[in-house]
Amino acid sequence: MKHYLLPFLAVVLGFVTVYFLKPQRPQQIKILLSFSGGFLLATTIFNLFPEVYEHSENMKTTGLFVVGGMLIQIFLEYFSKGAEHGHVHHTKNQQSFPLLLFGSLFIHSFLEGFPIHEGHEILLGVLIHKIPVAMIMATFLLKSSFSRSQILIFLGLFSIATPLGSYAATNFEFLSTYYHYINALVVGIFLHISTTILFESSEGHKYNIAKLISILSAIGLAYFI
Ligand SMILES: [Zn+2]
Ligand SMILES: [Zn+2]
Repeated sequence: MKHYLLPFLAVVLGFVTVYFLKPQRPQQIKILLSFSGGFLLATTIFNLFPEVYEHSENMKTTGLFVVGGMLIQIFLEYFSKGAEHGHVHHTKNQQSFPLLLFGSLFIHSFLEGFPIHEGHEILLGVLIHKIPVAMIMATFLLKSSFSRSQILIFLGLFSIATPLGSYAATNFEFLSTYYHYINALVVGIFLHISTTILFESSEGHKYNIAKLISILSAIGLAYFI
């Protein structure tokens, strides 16, 4: 049950934090984002990577899915403009709802629901990744001129996307047959977003001690849990 509830609550937590605390300095979200990137990268490599290869009948096919996942994420980011890893380009006076952005974020979050049955490390990795993303989306939505009902519909869909993915993974026979291949896709997605977060966290390749410490402590924590 917690596999369904926690990813939902992570989105709610991200929104509530921004709504009530209104973090003024984007720097704080960026440090949280660096931590989430480091943690997601480490849990993917320590836990999910070995898991998909262990269940693989053909290593190269599994590898093909990992690469495919990276490409899917790159493709999704043409539409989401990188919302999954930490930025939304807010265009003032945008009247129409950015459907493509939310569509691709939904697909990303849906796929993310697949591997969380694999163990508490991956569940934790997804949760820690989701909170800053939800905060970034919340900041974007609250600044926008979208109506309350539009914001609520988006929040609702975004928060159930990952639980829906987890449900589909275990309850639809077609999907459970290809479960480990889909997990390999998600490995590729996670590799792409986490390395992008780490890459973008050193803006202009400047040395930032706070971000470096948060990345290193995330990797250390992922190793020891
Ligand atoms: Zn980016
Ligand atoms: Zn995600």
